[in-house]
Amino acid sequence: MLENHRPTSEMQALDAAHHMHPFTDGDALNAKGARIITSAKGVFVTDSEGEQILDGMAGLWCVNIGYGREEIAEAAARQIRQLSYYNTFFQTSHPPALELAAKLAELAPGDLNHVFFNGSGSDSNDTNMRMARHYWQLKGKPEKQIILSRWNAYHGSTMGSGSLSGMKAMHKQGGLPIPGIDWINQPDWWSEGGEMSPEEFGLARARELEAKILDLGEDKVAAFIAEPIQGAGGVIVPPETYWPEIQRIVDKYGILLIADEVICGFGRTGNWFGTQTFGLRPDIMTIAKGLSSGYVPIGGSLVSDKVAKVINAGGEFAHGYTYSAHPVAAAIALENLRIMQDEKIVEKMAADTAPYLKTKWEALTAHPMVGEAKIVGMMASIALTPDKAARAKFASKEGTVGLICRERCFANNLVMRHVGDRMVIAPPLVISRAEIDMLIERAIRSLDEGMEIAKARGLWKAAPAA
Ligand SMILES: *Cc1c(COP(=O)(O)O)cnc(C)c1O
Repeated sequence: MLENHRPTSEMQALDAAHHMHPFTDGDALNAKGARIITSAKGVFVTDSEGEQILDGMAGLWCVNIGYGREEIAEAAARQIRQLSYYNTFFQTSHPPALELAAKLAELAPGDLNHVFFNGSGSDSNDTNMRMARHYWQLKGKPEKQIILSRWNAYHGSTMGSGSLSGMKAMHKQGGLPIPGIDWINQPDWWSEGGEMSPEEFGLARARELEAKILDLGEDKVAAFIAEPIQGAGGVIVPPETYWPEIQRIVDKYGILLIADEVICGFGRTGNWFGTQTFGLRPDIMTIAKGLSSGYVPIGGSLVSDKVAKVINAGGEFAHGYTYSAHPVAAAIALENLRIMQDEKIVEKMAADTAPYLKTKWEALTAHPMVGEAKIVGMMASIALTPDKAARAKFASKEGTVGLICRERCFANNLVMRHVGDRMVIAPPLVISRAEIDMLIERAIRSLDEGMEIAKARGLWKAAPAA
């Protein structure tokens, strides 16, 4: 293979000296050195030592069509030669922007026919927050400003979207959250459901939204934002009773529903959008990640006729980014969507490989350390536990055993992420049956090894029931 880089140790030293990593303990990483990824094709990434790693996370939940597609490189090169950049502020537009907007309106459910383009998921949620509040101001209800979210949600890492996120570790740093946001509890039955059935628990958690609206005052609440399935929170699939009740409540009180589809969108759950899988009718939808399959950064806010009409009639919406609707990013997203449609990637996955993975994934509950296994489409999680019957947590600090398992996965050339003591996967949608077999085989080996290590370190102990 072509070596176009320095020796690994030199690259690790440069990285440690100069590169600050996101969501990373800097000193801990720099002491051991980052694994350097130098190329990727299909569902495999290759490191600087030539090891081929099966990417069970599609990068960061984004590489839906797989790595290294030649057609995308061609589309990017064509667009750069034709129009490398122009903005859409000066009463101007360009073909990639308008074509992509029209394509998204065609793919999106309901009356989500309008797109505001952004550079990422985080700044799309900042856009959504401002748009939802601006909407109510224009409607003559300037008091309706509070955005409701959920604990353990992930909506991004800017001041706005990081505040919307319900991650307490994030809120502790840098002056978050900003005012005007409130949170309800998440629908995680495995760890928080207690003695309730999943169905009872789903209803109870959904009704926290109603209680919160009544508590704050219906006239104060602008919107509720949620991921159809929480991704970064640990692939938390809500009980079946949850979403219908949420939809009933947002309808009853007339608050906007913002579906954060950054992970669930573009096929991940087996339909084009997660809201279709759960029968939701959002007013605004956040998109990013799979929109370009991660080839370049791009995000967007898909907006309903109802909301767009008010915003468009409201004078200047004083908001936007230099790279809103960047022509190269838009051209790449268009080519990505063309590939997904022409190759029927979502349909094939939903009919064949997703059910194949589901059978194998759910069989992981036979493993002595695996409590529940959850899977929808190509996103899945398992809960690690020392005592399944009690749905017990480990006595050790949350994430200790999960991290051990993740490290065993990495050593076994599988990228599987841990969120606390849950393990999650979200492979490229194009993963084949043979690659799924490999993923499962490596996962089981890593779980076996992780359990041995946990036992050897005295970590095989349940925490007392909460
Ligand atoms: C990743 C993610 C975001 C943030 O997107 P970035 O492109 O990283 O800013 C927002 N919402 C959800 C659900 C995500 O998974």
